[in-house]
Amino acid sequence: MNVLVINTGSSSLKYQLFDMDNQAVLAGGVVERIGESQGVLTHKKFSQGKEIKTKETLVIQNHGEAMLLVAGLITQKIDAIGHRVVQGGEDFKEATRINEDVKNAIQANNPLAPLHNPPNLIGIQLAEDLFPGKPQVAVFDTNFHQTIPEKAYLYALPYEYYTDYKIRKYGFHGTSHKYIANKTAELMGKEPEEVNLITLHLGNGCSICAIKKGKCQDTSMGMTPLAGVMMGTRTGDLDPAIFGYLMDNTGMGQREIDQVLNKKSGLKGICGLNDLRDIHEQAARGDKLAGLAVEMFAYQIKKFIGAYAAVLGHVDGLVFTAGVGENDEIVRAKALADMSVFGIEIDQDKNEARSSAPHTIHGANSRIQVWVVPTNEELQIATETCQVLENPN
Ligand code: AMP
Repeated sequence: MNVLVINTGSSSLKYQLFDMDNQAVLAGGVVERIGESQGVLTHKKFSQGKEIKTKETLVIQNHGEAMLLVAGLITQKIDAIGHRVVQGGEDFKEATRINEDVKNAIQANNPLAPLHNPPNLIGIQLAEDLFPGKPQVAVFDTNFHQTIPEKAYLYALPYEYYTDYKIRKYGFHGTSHKYIANKTAELMGKEPEEVNLITLHLGNGCSICAIKKGKCQDTSMGMTPLAGVMMGTRTGDLDPAIFGYLMDNTGMGQREIDQVLNKKSGLKGICGLNDLRDIHEQAARGDKLAGLAVEMFAYQIKKFIGAYAAVLGHVDGLVFTAGVGENDEIVRAKALADMSVFGIEIDQDKNEARSSAPHTIHGANSRIQVWVVPTNEELQIATETCQVLENPN
């Protein structure tokens, strides 16, 4: 079965076509800067092990034009379409075949993800128009976190804010956490139900998960992707009183403060840069704030690892993934330093060795295995799309 995976953002459209029978990627790419004065279309196709890449700049007025471009570039047959949808609320516990009711339920969750769900829905509608009759499946970022128990997903607000306004922890990056948890269990020679893992998705956005026997018990992001560890430009957890204090004392309004918390904080807020490659360079040149940003980031990661070790009771493995998790040995080493009390020791040489394949970085005496496993959210979406279509109930 060939599955086209579509991930529509506010100004972008990512796509990948999988031949699931042969576990091969046939084509993929991204349309960026949709609606801006100059759009960019990057397309890759794979033929007999060779990658052929093309890049074009052109005006792409809207997602409809982007989708038409993508459809024109894909020459292979498409049997089904899998969509990334960010927020499924409590309505969706697993990947779901799309029909009118499902679209309405996604729309009803728009207020919880106003920047993400509307473009996701546009992607679904356009794919229905362009590929009529092809089955479509929604895979929600929030699915994997629906096993988090009530005591962990509720905020200590008046209870009716949960029932009336749906305020609770939903968690994000679920597709990535599920993929690396399953993959790591497989690499350990176990079933997902046989291991307890702490998974660390550290990219521009960061989230950490406590996973017990394949089921998510807690995660660092919250009702929105602003919570948890500090990120490239997002604050992570914050004393909630700071919001009102800023309103009262800076003259900024709610929207402006929201912008600061989401776009001007995190690593960028501390040292002016959000890409850790640049931050390490700057720190190596003696920039104190760049060094401080790295120390804060690693410290916050360490605290979540400790907290989630307590949540799980017994931990078999830690798994690092995404841009920072897969590539940044400095952050990994700092976050895992002095954790032998938890049974975590890393091997510096293994940690510093570069590899794009999954590998371990723990030392011989470490009780807990430490893995670096590249994530593959698109493959996970394609896999779940096939599962939904093969087992319709
Ligand atoms: P992602 O959101 O997963 O694409 O991750 C993007 C982030 O990964 C960038 O902002 C960088 O901070 C980080 N990153 C990517 N490559 C490297 C690298 N080689 N070393 C350190 N950080 C990296």
